[in-house]
Amino acid sequence: MEKQKIAELRKILTSRLNRPMRYYNDTCTRCGLCYDTCHAYQGIPEKIYSPVGRAEVVRKLYKKYTRLSGYLFPYWGDSTSFNDPVMDEAYKAVWSCTGCRRCVMNCPFGIDTALMMSVGKHLLIQNGTAPEELVMLADAAVEKGKSIEEFKEGYRQVIRDLEKEVQKRLGLAEPDGLIPMEKKNAEILYVGLAGAHTIVNPAIIFNAARENWTLSFFEGVNFGFFAGDPEKADFIAKRIINEATALNVKEIVIVECGTAFRIMRFLMGKLPFKVSSIVEVIHRYLAAGRIKLKDKSVAEPVTYHDPCQIGRNGGIYDEPRDIIHAVAADYREMSPTREQNWCCGGGGGLVALDNEEFRIKSGKPKKEQIVKTGAKIVVTACENCVMQLKTIANGYGLDVEIKYLTEFVCENLIR
Ligand code: SF4
Ligand code: SF4
Repeated sequence: MEKQKIAELRKILTSRLNRPMRYYNDTCTRCGLCYDTCHAYQGIPEKIYSPVGRAEVVRKLYKKYTRLSGYLFPYWGDSTSFNDPVMDEAYKAVWSCTGCRRCVMNCPFGIDTALMMSVGKHLLIQNGTAPEELVMLADAAVEKGKSIEEFKEGYRQVIRDLEKEVQKRLGLAEPDGLIPMEKKNAEILYVGLAGAHTIVNPAIIFNAARENWTLSFFEGVNFGFFAGDPEKADFIAKRIINEATALNVKEIVIVECGTAFRIMRFLMGKLPFKVSSIVEVIHRYLAAGRIKLKDKSVAEPVTYHDPCQIGRNGGIYDEPRDIIHAVAADYREMSPTREQNWCCGGGGGLVALDNEEFRIKSGKPKKEQIVKTGAKIVVTACENCVMQLKTIANGYGLDVEIKYLTEFVCENLIR
């Protein structure tokens, strides 16, 4: 590896050495309690897929470049220099971690492996070896933010077609205004994704609740965050914040995308409006009687998968369960559940990569959880989780249907 490249990587490494990172570097006792808490290690029991095994890759670099003992005596100091094999190892560690933070819940010191992996992702970006797919998607999102005016007319046309779909499903006479755009002073700015289902189903719910809302021009998903590029992640999130500010809305409501929700709610500092997940909003409508669902109309056993960024890292557990309970006559909880729920293995951008065989294997704990419930319908509230749960269901030949929560609500909505 060239000296110039090493200097650049070293700069990134030291720039990320804040207080939490020092603590995580210093306190790991190698007790190994975290090994069995990672779904990837459960599926493929290799050290590099364990939380401590992954973290060691980053920790050894810190020892080399921030400690005299590690710098002078690598063997004694248990340190490694930047070189191509180390960066390959970092890729394996980082791009098999979903950032689910289940290990954090089970480490006696609360060591945040996901945060340590974000340093690894940042180093891979600088090294030019981050997954190309994610870098390209992040660049496209940045470009859209820079030249949004050029995208607007094409997007309005797409939305006019989706309005007809909403009209048909709601049985209304006219499609106009069913998906409002650029509406100033609306109560809600709803942020969807590229897929039509992420707009049509929420639009049906908003119209049923007679909400004063407007649709964002941007997708909620943050490929800058997934790729591990802090600058792009910040820019991508701020496109939506700027749009909400210009429209003077009171609340941003995020599509079923766990990471998009967590970034906007917890990582963007204090915002002049409320940030909610669509799950919370549906729950609010139901509690206030603004929408009505067919009482216990689904007889088949139903279970719920907590998306890590909405449940464990977002604190939303009861709302989706209350919604499902209203409709399902036979609800079955997974075990373990809530903050100890197993990650499906698709988060952190992994579902966008060419790694299906790995994801099927690392989805083994989730497969076992689903099978034990005997459920025929698995409901969840995250795009990545739906895609990964479908991969698991196909990979293991499970006889289950995977559904978005919004889809489940729309199917059982009293019009
Ligand atoms: S449980 Fe915590 S302290 Fe123990 S090995 Fe894992 S990260 Fe280190
Ligand atoms: S954050 Fe999740 S995927 Fe990453 S090491 Fe911890 S348990 Fe494994």
